[in-house]
Amino acid sequence: MTLKMAVPNKGRLNERAVELLLRSGLDLGEGWGRRLYVNVRNQDIEVIFVRAQDIPEFVASGAIDIGITGEDQIAEAGEDLEKLLDLDFGHCRLSVAVPEASGIKNIDDIKDGCRVATSFPSLAKKFFASKKKKVDIINVSGAAEIMPYLGVSDIIVDLVSSGSTLKTNRLVTICDIMESQAVIVGNKKAVKSKKDAVNGIVNSVRSVIVAESKKYLMADVPKDKLDEVQRMFPGMAGPTVMNIAGRDDMVAMHVVVDKKDVYDSVNALKKMGAHGILTLPIERLVP
Ligand code: AMP
Repeated sequence: MTLKMAVPNKGRLNERAVELLLRSGLDLGEGWGRRLYVNVRNQDIEVIFVRAQDIPEFVASGAIDIGITGEDQIAEAGEDLEKLLDLDFGHCRLSVAVPEASGIKNIDDIKDGCRVATSFPSLAKKFFASKKKKVDIINVSGAAEIMPYLGVSDIIVDLVSSGSTLKTNRLVTICDIMESQAVIVGNKKAVKSKKDAVNGIVNSVRSVIVAESKKYLMADVPKDKLDEVQRMFPGMAGPTVMNIAGRDDMVAMHVVVDKKDVYDSVNALKKMGAHGILTLPIERLVP
């Protein structure tokens, strides 16, 4: 049975979502950017391009089995979906922001009747109700930041990542409602009935994300330094050590290292008398 997977068709999540699928080994063929859906070559998978905000509903209804979207969109839709994988991109916070000049410092300063512009009406409503604040929610489909300037609202609830858009519009955040990142979510029934296909794609994408944070490091190291080398690389089953033809004093070592440790590791190996040090990217890593 074909696995239907939704991917954001444009916007902030589109590029990285497609990149993850391609790197996972899914062949979307030529011209996928212009298509509304694509049958993945050699796999019983259909990739459907739709708006990130529509994905929770399509997955919940069962029209689509799994999808990539932001946790913020899932929470706003209020659908009961199964989270399958954090994708570690699209990081942002849904925050309450006020004009710098408003003098509002925290939620307690917000008066009843305050007008809140947001494209997250459901989450905003729940949040202010939980704080016992009677506010008027004004539903906008985008550009909430401009609403206080236009006099349409007093404050906003919007997504913030770097905070630069808020700054440009002379707004400051006073509190966060939730944190969000891109995730793979699934329809609860489909996750069971299409278990193998779902696991196949989730594991592939995970292997790409893990691989991106690692490097493959190779070096010829003095044999008498092997203990030291082994202590240096304790993770991931330790280094693989191989003999070098015609050399009794040196061995070849291969190891997977965290990207952040590459700089120190190479310098330390050099200091130990290693040579022929190479670092290579890893495409996928399945532990
Ligand atoms: P789109 O509206 O299609 O560009 O997608 C917006 C999604 O990107 C949101 O639902 C979030 O999950 C994510 N995102 C990450 N950072 C931000 C940001 N600063 N502003 C808006 N969306 C963001």
